[in-house]
Amino acid sequence: MTTATVVGSGPNGLAAAVTLARAGVSVTVLEMADRIGGGTRTSELTVPGVLHDDCSAVHPMGVASAFFRSAGLDRYGLRWLRAPIDVVHPLDGGRAGVLQTSLSDTVEGLGADGARWRRVFGPLVRTFEDLADEFFQPITHIPRHLVPMARFGPTALSPATLTASRLQTPEARALFGGVAAHAVYPLSRPTTSAIGAMMIAAGHNHGWPVAEGGSEAITTAMAKLLAELGGTVHTGVEVTHLDEVTSDIVMMDLSPTAVVDLAGHRLPARVAKAYRRYRYGPAAFKLDIAVDDHIPWTNEAARYAGTVHVCGSFEEIVAAERDVHRGVMPQRPYVLLAQQYLADPSRSAGSIHPIWAYAHTPHGYTGDATGLILDQIERFAPGFRERIAAIHSRSPREMPSYNPNYVGGDIITGLNSPRQVLMRPRVAFDPYATGIDGVYICSAATPPGGGVHGMNGHNAALSALRHVAR
Ligand SMILES: Cc1cc2nc3c(=O)[nH]c(=O)nc-3n(C[C@H](O)[C@H](O)[C@H](O)COP(=O)(O)OP(=O)(O)OC[C@H]3O[C@@H](n4cnc5c(N)ncnc54)[C@H](O)[C@@H]3O)c2cc1C
Repeated sequence: MTTATVVGSGPNGLAAAVTLARAGVSVTVLEMADRIGGGTRTSELTVPGVLHDDCSAVHPMGVASAFFRSAGLDRYGLRWLRAPIDVVHPLDGGRAGVLQTSLSDTVEGLGADGARWRRVFGPLVRTFEDLADEFFQPITHIPRHLVPMARFGPTALSPATLTASRLQTPEARALFGGVAAHAVYPLSRPTTSAIGAMMIAAGHNHGWPVAEGGSEAITTAMAKLLAELGGTVHTGVEVTHLDEVTSDIVMMDLSPTAVVDLAGHRLPARVAKAYRRYRYGPAAFKLDIAVDDHIPWTNEAARYAGTVHVCGSFEEIVAAERDVHRGVMPQRPYVLLAQQYLADPSRSAGSIHPIWAYAHTPHGYTGDATGLILDQIERFAPGFRERIAAIHSRSPREMPSYNPNYVGGDIITGLNSPRQVLMRPRVAFDPYATGIDGVYICSAATPPGGGVHGMNGHNAALSALRHVAR
């Protein structure tokens, strides 16, 4: 029987493990932390009984993931829940851009820009399933949906500033900019429309859901499926050298830097060089806040939104993202905030609710962004500070000891530069192959990049299985 070891139990490690186990491979997962899940853990970080997502919180690409759907994770307890409104982007003066699952409702809410929103995103929304099929694979694959891809190409390759110029109202422009900023890359650069456009199209098809009970329910479901398939998981086991692992296949749910540390002596020189040159992006300063009652957003819709993008106008987002890329901490950073309890009341304890927030900061930022994040929220929700019952923070400096894949605090394990959006972690026909026979990299540093959807791990496992078959 073919054997495999998966190093790391993030969503991609577990997706690789499940895909291999389903093909009849005997799989062992080794995880250095005392809990599985990597970027999908959920903890009581502030007040007993209040459940905070340590890392990932909202999953528009997860619910759209072909791997998650084919795995039937609902049979293992995964339930996606949606807040009444998906995303709100508040502006000064109480106005806001509002993204709803229904494209028509979003168009209606955007008033003068509604028709333009439909023109820009409508074709992507209609062909989303075909696009996702392509988007979730390495660029080197043979496309099956040529017409939708040809339509998506010009938007995907455009800077977000160009796509935003097709919109006119501050609400619509900021709404798009807030989503495009998930790329964590200057919005004036090519390809920054791609991730935003896909997340908007995903949202108009499936919403921006959270997992019932916390994001860790996603990997708990995968671990249950893996156990049923005969796979085993060991926590508290750090792999420090590739030679410690003896199996036919090794899947590394690790950063390219860690792969060089573990396997440098066996990597072909050109691969080791490419992995050393792999670029990491800006960081995140994370705050988990226990809030009494609710955040008093001036904009009414924000009180019902699962996700709130807190930064103000499109121009302010552009400036903040440009600054963090240059290594400067903006005074008004881009803040992502989630109110998961609106979809999933099981996260709260009485009137105390968990609020999840992080600001983009420069790579390796050593300062304390707590005040800047709270100021940004207070700007759109006066009186917010008085409702805070407790706060827990995790700075970019602390991120790598929580999870070594977050190099310099980069929570998506890789800069979304045009080159790395198109090809990562190196230019290669098979981006998962490391050049060592049977050894693969399957983390967010591989296509299709960061996020909880398991597609990197699934694709890497398919690559390994093709190799075994040959
Ligand atoms: C604050 C934050 C917010 C985020 N928000 C979202 C969100 O809302 N939606 C979304 O889709 N994504 C979000 N992400 C990103 C998402 O969590 C990651 O892209 C995703 O978890 C990557 O999965 P992975 O399997 O590649 O790696 P990871 O989840 O990073 O898992 C890697 C695992 O490998 C283990 N490991 C590392 N080295 C070793 C070793 N030597 N030996 C054994 N084990 C090892 C680690 O402990 C870890 O468990 C967020 C991330 C963070 C940190």
